[in-house]
Amino acid sequence: MFSSMQIGIDLGTANILVYTKNKGMIINEPSVVAINVHTKEVLAVGEEAKQMVGKTPGNIVAIRPLKDGVIADYQVTTDMLKFIMKKASRKLGTSIRKPNVVVCTPSGSTSVERRAISDAVRQCGAKDVQLIEEPVAAAIGADLPVEEPVANVIVDIGGGTTEVAIISFGGIVSCHSIRVGGDQLDEDITQFIRKKYNLLIGYRTAESIKIEIGYSLVDHAEMHMNIRGRDLVSGLPKTIQVSSYEIQQAIRESLLSILEAIRATLEDCPPELSGDIVDRGVTLSGGGALLHGMVEWISDEIVVPVHLAPSPLESVAIGTGRSLNMMKRIQKL
Ligand code: ADP
Ligand code: MG
Repeated sequence: MFSSMQIGIDLGTANILVYTKNKGMIINEPSVVAINVHTKEVLAVGEEAKQMVGKTPGNIVAIRPLKDGVIADYQVTTDMLKFIMKKASRKLGTSIRKPNVVVCTPSGSTSVERRAISDAVRQCGAKDVQLIEEPVAAAIGADLPVEEPVANVIVDIGGGTTEVAIISFGGIVSCHSIRVGGDQLDEDITQFIRKKYNLLIGYRTAESIKIEIGYSLVDHAEMHMNIRGRDLVSGLPKTIQVSSYEIQQAIRESLLSILEAIRATLEDCPPELSGDIVDRGVTLSGGGALLHGMVEWISDEIVVPVHLAPSPLESVAIGTGRSLNMMKRIQKL
């Protein structure tokens, strides 16, 4: 008997991860593709392509083919998947022939967007493609007992979106998805620095400011960071110092909209499940959950226990892979 390889893919806006039952996580790369605009040739994918963002000559562009969690550029997404599948085969030391693939889709995606994702994966040689709702995958990967008739609340803060869902009995009971995630925080920081200091900074710099000195809306000891960019008045390179207090102000509005999505989902909760939430709390996953003080801040605001998933950046991929064994019991798309 043949059994074909089973793999789970987290096709995120910021990162693409591939998980297999036997070998665990075999791919973890930024979802970035570098392309020659004239020949359309793919020059690099993943970390190598991310290093090129904002630094390439005019004929090379670094594209993030997924936007807001869905495919914005179909051709480039397919190219990226092909590259990733090849790399996965190399890692496994065998060629992945006709694998069974489970891939996640954001809960807010339309049927056309879902179709595009499964077609793109099939084009890369998959035998069978199943889709799973991203919050369900995130909850499975965060070790929540999604198949039980209890309220499992998951907040997945990714690059492009934040998805909040209550999952019970293998399916989504209530869910809110907003197009605010880590990328929006980077954008807020970029805008703030441009307005206040007349300094233009790149996407990578904004992200590193967020990761190093970005705080959710909690008290903390002030931190400083030196950053470099281009002065908009003189046009010359310049270094300035920014404080974690001002960065906190810059990202305030976006953080409040994430909180609002959590509140709205909890308000939609059927009363029979509300008691569970008080006891079991809310679990945070996704890279945005790693912002300093996030767990503290959200638990203060919603007054229920808040937990961080064991590996927030990997929850969705782990859950996608694990769901292969549970597909009969959880809601399929
Ligand atoms: P996606 O599922 O959309 O690919 P991820 O869950 O991989 O997104 O999260 C990526 C986002 O998390 C990015 O915006 C990244 O800047 C952010 N991120 C990663 N690590 C941290 C950190 N330590 N603190 C704050 N944000 C982080
Ligand atoms: Mg994600």
